[in-house]
Amino acid sequence: MNCDEFVELVTVFLDGAMDEPTELRFLTHLTRCDDCETCLDQFRQTIAMLGELPAQSLPAPGLSGEASDRLRGAFRAMRRG
Ligand SMILES: [Zn+2]
Repeated sequence: MNCDEFVELVTVFLDGAMDEPTELRFLTHLTRCDDCETCLDQFRQTIAMLGELPAQSLPAPGLSGEASDRLRGAFRAMRRG
C-alpha cells in the first residue's frame, strides 16, 4: 500500500467498514509511515470536532458522503503542506 491508497481508505477505516485483509495492509502501512500516522491523528481530531456539531449536520454513526469528501480534500491539502 502506498500513501495515496492509504488516504483513500482513511474514512473507510474510521467508519469501521474495512474488510480484514485491507485493514491489515492499512495498519502495516500505518506502522511504517510516520506521515500517515500523523495524518490519521489529524483526521480523528477533525472528526471529533465534526462530532461536536449539531446532530442533524452529521448523520450518525458513519460519515455522510459529503463530509467524507470534505475530509479527504482537507487531508490531501494537508499532505501537500
Ligand atoms: Zn504513508
